Amino acid sequence: MHHKHNIQILLWDIDGTILDFEKAEEAAIRKGFAVHGLGECTDEMLADYSVINRGYWQKLERGEMTKPRILVERFREFFGKYGLDTTKAEAFNADYQVNLGDTICFRDDALSVIQRIPKDIGQYVVTNGTAIAQHRKLSLSGLEEIMDGYYISDEVGFEKPGIEYFNAVFADLRKKYGEVDPGKVMIIGDSLTSDIRGGNNAGLICCWYNPKGLKNDKGLRIDYEIRSLQEVPELLGSWGRG
Ligand SMILES: [Mg+2]
Repeated sequence: MHHKHNIQILLWDIDGTILDFEKAEEAAIRKGFAVHGLGECTDEMLADYSVINRGYWQKLERGEMTKPRILVERFREFFGKYGLDTTKAEAFNADYQVNLGDTICFRDDALSVIQRIPKDIGQYVVTNGTAIAQHRKLSLSGLEEIMDGYYISDEVGFEKPGIEYFNAVFADLRKKYGEVDPGKVMIIGDSLTSDIRGGNNAGLICCWYNPKGLKNDKGLRIDYEIRSLQEVPELLGSWGRG
């Protein structure tokens, strides 16, 4: 039995948490291959790309590479590995950003979870995606209307898990709520290195969405670990309806 926190604000990750990022990624890449005449993109190539891509985002999280560079470099490496024209990486990525926002697939019926959260709990999006893709997703998914606000790293000027990112989020939240206690704010996300490390850095309640039952091998503090987003309403203590 968990000790229940008094939670006032939820910070939701989008990709891999509310939305099924893998499905959107797959659709966007296949479309790009067709449009740019790159031939067939097999399931094996997609799986390979996924690994390459994750490696680049981790470089970003560690501050080793800028975002504009990782966006193009991941495709350059991927194309290079399969003998495809690497000079197409930049144009491919530009189209990919648009296409990525076009495939909306909720995980765990997330929309119904979000709508079930009591109205006196603020709900915000915290995401490292690019502004163009994330705005498209937020608007097409209907999340833009339901959420109380969103913090896209491109617009904030910093990335999760950096404390600068969370400082900027809190500066904005304080404009709306006055004083905000980080101990009453819960971040919900699938990434240990981005969401949970960020939540640890900022002193938030950390809820790890871990549908695949992965190991917490990073030594991070996790207050709640859930397999399904349907478990979120019951974590909300006296504010929630269980
Ligand atoms: Mg995520």
